[in-house]
Amino acid sequence: MDVNQVDLTISAVRADQYPTTGYPEIALVGRSNVGKSSLTNTLINRRNFAHTSSQPGKTQTLNFYDVENQLYFVDVPGYGYAKVSKKQREEFGQMIEQYLTQRQQLRGVILLVDARHTPTADDAQMYQWLTYYHLPVLVVATKTDKVKPSQYTKVIKEVKNKLQFVKDQPLILFSATSKRGKDDVWHWIEKQTGV
Ligand code: GDP
Repeated sequence: MDVNQVDLTISAVRADQYPTTGYPEIALVGRSNVGKSSLTNTLINRRNFAHTSSQPGKTQTLNFYDVENQLYFVDVPGYGYAKVSKKQREEFGQMIEQYLTQRQQLRGVILLVDARHTPTADDAQMYQWLTYYHLPVLVVATKTDKVKPSQYTKVIKEVKNKLQFVKDQPLILFSATSKRGKDDVWHWIEKQTGV
């Protein structure tokens, strides 16, 4: 999709604040600092629209980005954030869980992992959880510009092993720096949302 217009519709802390336009939604999930904002900015051709955060765990809302009045990217708070209290973590956990399991408009989830490291137990748990709920999942291994091309095959193997990949699940190598994988990610989004 050729993107010119993007708006942050709402940073929601409660379900009754979610948009009611009915556009299809694609959620982005991943550990704090994995590169979610950078992926979002790359997809919408902006340098710094979705805020890139150097402070892990700052984003504690579900951010709905209206893309061309056709779909929403939903930035889900990063898991594994340390600075949030246990109570807050439980509340956000509940909100995310309800969003991901009950939202009618949700067409798919992009799970980001860091190509430089083996996926963590948190990543694996999130993948298993999404799969358990039969959500269409695209795994994006990001920051591949930091990995030698000779290591790509190893990265793919490690991600698939650690997440216990379901057969034929899509995995895309991505970089916000080089834009590698951008078209492939868009292709998947278009397929899921029909835009
Ligand atoms: P978020 O917390 O998941 O939204 O992560 P950000 O998008 O804020 O990225 C966290 C850090 O990783 C920032 O310093 C980014 O510049 C950096 N980063 C994100 N994506 C890439 C990438 O593809 N390549 C490189 N080299 N750095 C990246």
